Amino acid sequence: MALSLFSDFENFTVFRPGPQHEKSVNDSGTARLSPMIELQQGWQLRISRGQPFRAGPPPFVTGSLRGTFPAEPSCKRKGDIELMPTQSLPHVIIVGGGFAGLNAARALAAAPVEVTLVDRRNHHVFQPFLYQVATASLSPADISAPIRTVLRGQDNCEVVLAEVTGVDVEERRVRLGGGHVQYDYLILATGATHAYFGHDDWAPIAPGLKSLEDAVEMRRRILLAFESAEQEGNAASRRAALTFAIVGGGPTGVELAGAIKEIAGQTIAKEYKHIDTRTTRVILFEGGDRLLPTFDPSLSARAQRDLERMGVEVRLKAIVTNVTRDGVYIGNAFIPVRNVFWAAGVKASPLGKALGVPLDRAGRVIVGPDLTIPAHPEVFVAGDLAAAKSAVTGKPVPGVAQGGMQMGRYAGEIIAREVRTVREGRSVRERRAFEYRDKGSMAVIGKSRAVADLFGRWKVGGFVAWLMWGMIHILFLIGFRNRLQVMLAWFWNWLLNARDVRLISGDARLDILVARSEDFIPEEKVLTRTAPEGGGKP
Ligand SMILES: Cc1cc2nc3c(=O)[nH]c(=O)nc-3n(C[C@H](O)[C@H](O)[C@H](O)COP(=O)(O)OP(=O)(O)OC[C@H]3O[C@@H](n4cnc5c(N)ncnc54)[C@H](O)[C@@H]3O)c2cc1C
Repeated sequence: MALSLFSDFENFTVFRPGPQHEKSVNDSGTARLSPMIELQQGWQLRISRGQPFRAGPPPFVTGSLRGTFPAEPSCKRKGDIELMPTQSLPHVIIVGGGFAGLNAARALAAAPVEVTLVDRRNHHVFQPFLYQVATASLSPADISAPIRTVLRGQDNCEVVLAEVTGVDVEERRVRLGGGHVQYDYLILATGATHAYFGHDDWAPIAPGLKSLEDAVEMRRRILLAFESAEQEGNAASRRAALTFAIVGGGPTGVELAGAIKEIAGQTIAKEYKHIDTRTTRVILFEGGDRLLPTFDPSLSARAQRDLERMGVEVRLKAIVTNVTRDGVYIGNAFIPVRNVFWAAGVKASPLGKALGVPLDRAGRVIVGPDLTIPAHPEVFVAGDLAAAKSAVTGKPVPGVAQGGMQMGRYAGEIIAREVRTVREGRSVRERRAFEYRDKGSMAVIGKSRAVADLFGRWKVGGFVAWLMWGMIHILFLIGFRNRLQVMLAWFWNWLLNARDVRLISGDARLDILVARSEDFIPEEKVLTRTAPEGGGKP
């Protein structure tokens, strides 16, 4: 059972320890267990082999504990409850178990602190592989890892599944689950989400890719589009079903466009009887004048050339002005397309606002050279949520995995060093500024094709870049099983042009205008829609 907050005194009695526990606790001279547990300030109750239950402000009540505990049956056994002095250990709260949060936690592994890592999901996601889940190459489990498993060897770290809804920097506490938890240091690393540039109503039509749920939804839509086209009797509607628009020519847009074209042109080309999936149109819209704007221009040109060779239509300087269920508008021009995917922009997690400090245009928290916010050296912001500059180059740190990992590690190391220094009675030195080490950028275009910009020095394209992309990403993937699984899946897919995770989960209703044959599909399986502009007769 998850951590429960202290509101229900009755529940406490259910798990009230027996007399042997009363004795062992009383021996320490600090607690009375029944009917209520009292803790001296700075002492900690350990329940069920090591799960710490802190004394502090609500919901970790100061002085006395009432209510429910982590209610494992083992709580009732002798030795499951112990008191430990923890007064001298500062409490570090890390919000977010992404690249930044996990690296911060690991950097604190040997530090004399109590770490609480809070995430609203129980798993870490390797976002660079999300598009491979969306395009049926990999399973969600291959690219994720339970946060508890990742940190299970770290004795000073507790993992809490909860959504943080606010931060009170003056009182030094974060709000979660209807209560507050006190911190001595805070590392906020809640990442980013999609930005629709003020058109949030486009989100249901043009989903983005940020979480596993997004990836599974995108996979559902891609696979359902071919099924709908197979049974669609209206020619224009069929064309629209076999047209995919991807908005945004960054790495995610490029990777999605290439992968969808490969699915249509190779993977499923022989599997449908009524449609030729090789006629599928994939249109990649980019508002700027080149794809991969953060890469070297030579690599942008290479990516465009490779995509066009694969049959992807690349439209540069094309700003999408409206998205409807039947198509997209580029200015006044309407393009009938049934499947639109959003890879155009990100905005920071809304939690940044809770700090009450200046944000940049993308909602990221503007941090100082040590990644903290003004007047609060105990509050660090890391990863995609931070608008940070590197002390080496003075340039903004990009919103990439390396940036998150390095910032998280930096924040953890600074805290660990300062806490040790204070414990040893020495005076704390001025903090070194955060230095971002740019190891380069990479994007996959298709099978055996990628572009890589390494250390800002070497530009590589084609098969070599693709191999490097694979090896480097495998290295950073968490978990041996995942690495093995992904390598096997890639090899299999590469050898056979296969994409075996072609599961339509969730709503499998077909999106068609007119059934190819009247008795072909039961009516309730069909979404009703109006004819697209210029729609022909079946
Ligand atoms: C599709 C895609 C492809 C990418 N490809 C690449 C690539 O190839 N190379 C590269 O370097 N980078 C890539 N990136 C960028 C990279 O993944 C991010 O820069 C990185 O994930 C940022 O790490 P983070 O820790 O700041 O945030 P995240 O990894 O997003 O983690 C944030 C965590 O915070 C949690 N959280 C959020 N809000 C709350 C809350 N209120 N309470 C509790 N928990 C909360 C979330 O559940 C999540 O676990 C890609 C990103 C995407 C979306």
